[in-house]
Amino acid sequence: MTVLSARGLAKAYGETPVFSGVDLDLAAGEIVALLGESGAGKSTLLNCLAGLDEADTGSITLDGHDLRALDDEARSALRRRSLGFVFQAFHLLPHLSVADNVALPLRLLGHADDARVAQMLAAVDLGGLAARMPRQLSGGQLQRVAIARALVHRPRLVLADEPTGNLDARHAAEVLALLRRCALEAGAACLLVTHSERAAEAADRRLRLDAQGLHAA
Ligand code: ADP
Repeated sequence: MTVLSARGLAKAYGETPVFSGVDLDLAAGEIVALLGESGAGKSTLLNCLAGLDEADTGSITLDGHDLRALDDEARSALRRRSLGFVFQAFHLLPHLSVADNVALPLRLLGHADDARVAQMLAAVDLGGLAARMPRQLSGGQLQRVAIARALVHRPRLVLADEPTGNLDARHAAEVLALLRRCALEAGAACLLVTHSERAAEAADRRLRLDAQGLHAA
C-alpha cells in the first residue's frame, strides 16, 4: 500500500533551481535512505513532502490526500495525524520537559497516553531523563527525544533528517532498530536523509537526489 506518492516535484530559490523531476513512492513498511551531496536539496525535499515548505510544481499524495489541494487547517490536521518528522536541529520545545515534548503529538490529537510516552522514552534509552529539560541534555540525547516524539503517535509516514547524525554507534543502531519496528508494527513508511553508511545499509532501498531528480543508488 502506498503511503506517499510524489510526482514531478520541482523547487527553486529565486533563479537557482534546487531539484526538478522528483518522483517518489513510499510503501507501508519500507525504510528508504535519501542520499546526496550537501546542498543537493535533501532537507528542502523533506520539508516539501511534509507540507512545511511548498514545491513550485508537482503533486504529493499522503495517505490518500492530495497535500497541495488542502487548506492550511486540513493540511495541519493531516500532518498531526499521519506524519512524524525528525528535524535536523531537533526543534524541541525548550519550556517543556523531555516527557512533555514526547507527549505533545498525542496531546494535540487528544489521546494523552503516559504509558506510551514511557515506552517510547525507554525505546530510545532515555527512561531515566523524563523530567529533564531540553537544555540539560547532550546533542545525542536531544536527537533521541526528537525521534521518540516523531514516532509516539504511530505515524503512517516518518521523515527524518539525519536521525543518527549526533549518535554514537550503539544509540544509532538502537534508533535504526526502532525505526524498523515502527515500519513492521505500525506499517510506517520511513524516508531517512543520511550520510551514514550503516544507516543506508539498514534501509530497504537507497535513492540519490541530484538536480535531475531521484535515482536508485
Ligand atoms: P541538503 O539538505 O541536501 O544539504 P538543502 O535542502 O539544505 O540541501 O539546500 C539545497 C540548496 O538550497 C542549497 O544550495 C541551499 O543553499 C539552498 N537553500 C536552502 N534553503 C534556502 C532558502 N530558504 N533560501 C535560499 N536558498 C536556500
